[in-house]
Amino acid sequence: MTGPARLVLATHNAHKLGELRAILVPALPGLDPDSVVGARDVGAPEPVEDGVTFAENALIKARALAAHTGLPAVADDSGLSVDVLGGAPGIFSARWSGRHGDDRANLDLLLAQLSDIAPEHRAARFTCAAALVTPEGEEHVELGHLVGTLATAPRGAHGFGYDPILVPAGGDLTCAELAPEEKNRISHRGQAFRALVPAVVAVLGREPRG
Ligand code: IMP
Repeated sequence: MTGPARLVLATHNAHKLGELRAILVPALPGLDPDSVVGARDVGAPEPVEDGVTFAENALIKARALAAHTGLPAVADDSGLSVDVLGGAPGIFSARWSGRHGDDRANLDLLLAQLSDIAPEHRAARFTCAAALVTPEGEEHVELGHLVGTLATAPRGAHGFGYDPILVPAGGDLTCAELAPEEKNRISHRGQAFRALVPAVVAVLGREPRG
């Protein structure tokens, strides 16, 4: 028998939901994994993400979801920032080529833009902002980063987005060549979610277990 929803995550992405559950459940031994639900499960509308930072956009999503559901809500926003491009694509990562969510076109455009840039100037990082907002208006934001350099051609079959060209510092493999568990262990998203856990534990700890 499954209890009521206690926490809602602003994503339609089953992978992210699984990742958040995997981080939260060990931290909250009494938590029923099924009580952590996705935005789709509660029929929440998607707000306009008109913030200009990852943190602002994560907060916009979490606030909208907390208001819609009356539950504590967690949202994340992430992207790739390239030093020589002054931090772009940044918050425009998902639509850098003009087509939202066309991972291959986004990656190809970025590689073309950087084609003359030498390896020592190809520093880049993934950033993730993870936000928790309660219906009462309590707000927390945590950031995570995955620093590396950009390869000159895509390599590897795992992951999504810019994974085939980001080589995390200290290694030679792209994120798409790493085993998914290994990428999750070092990823910006894992770091941001893990940093948010104490706030989530505090909020859920104050509520009845249903
Ligand atoms: P969102 O936070 O899911 O909206 O992601 C924004 C965009 O940033 C994605 O479409 C990807 O292009 C890029 N991105 C964010 N995190 C990652 C990652 O872990 N690997 C590869 N690309 C990522």
